[in-house]
Amino acid sequence: MALIVQKFGGTSVGTVDRIENVAERIKKFRDHGDDIVVVVSAMSGETNRLVALAQSIDEKPHAREYDVLLSTGEQVTIALLSMALNKRGVPARSYTGTQVHILTDSAHNKARILDIEERNMRNNLNEGKVIVVAGFQGVDEEGNITTLGRGGSDTTAVALAAALKADECQIYTDVDGVYTTDPRVVPEARRLDKITFEEMLEMASLGSKVLQIRAVEFAGKYNVPLRVLSSFDEPNFDLDDSSKDSSNGTLITYEEDDMEQALISGIAFNRDEAKLTILGVPDKPGVAYSILGPIGDSNVEIDMIIQNIGADGTTDFTFTVHRNDFEDAKQVLTGVANDLGAREVQGDDKIVKISLVGVGMRSHAGIASKMFKTLAEEGININMISTSEIKISVVVDEKYLELGVRTLHSAFGLEQKTV
Ligand code: ADP
Ligand code: ASP
Ligand code: MG
Repeated sequence: MALIVQKFGGTSVGTVDRIENVAERIKKFRDHGDDIVVVVSAMSGETNRLVALAQSIDEKPHAREYDVLLSTGEQVTIALLSMALNKRGVPARSYTGTQVHILTDSAHNKARILDIEERNMRNNLNEGKVIVVAGFQGVDEEGNITTLGRGGSDTTAVALAAALKADECQIYTDVDGVYTTDPRVVPEARRLDKITFEEMLEMASLGSKVLQIRAVEFAGKYNVPLRVLSSFDEPNFDLDDSSKDSSNGTLITYEEDDMEQALISGIAFNRDEAKLTILGVPDKPGVAYSILGPIGDSNVEIDMIIQNIGADGTTDFTFTVHRNDFEDAKQVLTGVANDLGAREVQGDDKIVKISLVGVGMRSHAGIASKMFKTLAEEGININMISTSEIKISVVVDEKYLELGVRTLHSAFGLEQKTV
């Protein structure tokens, strides 16, 4: 008998039939003797529909009201799933984020979880009830509804698992685990049995949307065993038994000796990037600050940065931002360019970032040059490069995304198992 937090994403609860299937699956776990806390997303497409509704009123909707609207999607699914469970004789109770009391800060649309009240949940569990919690939402000190950023139901699930000290947090989705890259782009992508927290954190932060980055951070910090599984496979009660094949999903784990000794674990990509360049600024102390300071002050996050020595004691400065922030950042930068007497501001929002991720990179040289050679052979021009101990990222023209990811996947032999 175990306490398991199970999260079902939008596709897994996308129709009434699928909600009934999820209820059947939960019933099987209950019959097996496990205590279950469920977290659900809105039905697939629903959050996008709500976003579009808001934007039809105001392109930049009022942040508090936006959260009131967006949080309604999950309220529908908790009620429907709880009805489906109760109908099957499985006593269940639904809770919104406010009702469980998932306390967050007041950063609307990207709130962080601060605390979770676990007493009511414990009481319900002791009474044999299944608890069904709305993902993606919380409440701040003043009682305002907040949301946790797109994909935030993953974080709700991991945070609940941490608060309840659950034995495992299972993220059920429409793929049966974490793959070497998005299987929608590379059909030959291979499911990983395990991936380290460190690698998963990089994959998530570099654009793999299979898990929200904060969920991985939380799981790493609070030591929550985290697994990604398919909601369409048969329920598997013995996930440690690796003799069964595909339904064990992917375990996110601390680095272990028995991990596959792959150089590269996966390829992540991000289509949400845009690039800005300011040309011909004076090359003197304080210049980076006078460019990036005002960008930061306007609440735009900067990702990659490159500074080149230009002609005549001047320098060129390039950085990337989220595509949604491109116009705002360009406007700020144009003001900065005037102040600094820069020659020109250039912008490009048709770029993408492709990244290789793997802890094996630490001990192996030559991976970057192999990556650059592979891209060169396909005629793909690299605009920017950034590296860390366990990742190499390049920025390329968006038209090369699929070609770049597929060629790198095959050049690094990711479709083949290494052990
Ligand atoms: P959910 O609605 O269940 O939260 P998401 O759409 O957020 O599901 O995440 C699952 C999707 O993530 C998959 O359908 C897949 O296309 C995508 N994805 C991106 N990168 C990966 C990867 N490395 N491994 C598995 N899936 C990935
Ligand atoms: N429904 C929210 C979204 O679509 C949260 C989630 O699904 O995790 O982003
Ligand atoms: Mg998701």
